[in-house]
Amino acid sequence: MLHRFFSESPIAEGSVQIAGAEAHHLLHVLRLGVGDEVMLFDGRGDEFRASIANVSRQEVECIVEERIAADRELAFDLTLGVALPKGDRQRWLVEKAVELGVTQIIPLRCDRSVVRGSDRPSERLQRAVIEASKQCGRNRLAEIAPAADFVDWVDRTPVGGLRLFAHPAASKPIQDLLVYNALTKVDIAIGPEGGFSQEEFALARTAGWHPVNLGPRLLRVETAALAALSAVALKNP
Ligand code: SAH
Repeated sequence: MLHRFFSESPIAEGSVQIAGAEAHHLLHVLRLGVGDEVMLFDGRGDEFRASIANVSRQEVECIVEERIAADRELAFDLTLGVALPKGDRQRWLVEKAVELGVTQIIPLRCDRSVVRGSDRPSERLQRAVIEASKQCGRNRLAEIAPAADFVDWVDRTPVGGLRLFAHPAASKPIQDLLVYNALTKVDIAIGPEGGFSQEEFALARTAGWHPVNLGPRLLRVETAALAALSAVALKNP
């Protein structure tokens, strides 16, 4: 398979400049050079077979040879609202969620959150989305949304799709809710290490979300998120 590189600017026919971290990866890590073939994507859906025409120390010029419509997205919208864990577990979660096909990740502020969550998505998580998309062949970038308060988010999420929140005390296993539903849009909420508070639980119920169980063991936040995403994504890949 050709090495894949991400272009910030939209790719059309003709020549494409690759700069920054992507150029560094191409030139100094993979040591590709003039004449080598690569696959480019700009996060807007297609991929482009191209060849390297010129290189300088920090920039690479590629010439597009073929535009390829390669759709590796899920057949429905999959949003993960999650009380992000700290540090590297956070980056790991984002990487794996992208591989499983998540469309959007919303960092949630919950009553018992350990991470406050900034209003603007971090550069580091954005980079994790690009790295994972390069590696797994996705041509659309998952969106990292600004952090939201759990109670606001459960209230404003449209009723149309399937809205699930993972709760260890829930009586229904997640699989039960996937049986009868043709999936068009799925929203999944995962709480912090301390779990959802009583108030949050009550609010989500009132707003019509379904509490679901992920088995008899207590999972860490990132395991719970990936278990729920896998159950949904593989149900209807
Ligand atoms: N002590 C907490 C556990 C939190 S685990 C409690 O009892 O609620 C962190 C989050 O992962 C939870 O808020 C929930 O969303 C999810 N989770 C972990 N294990 C789960 C399980 N077995 N079933 C459903 N959700 C689970």
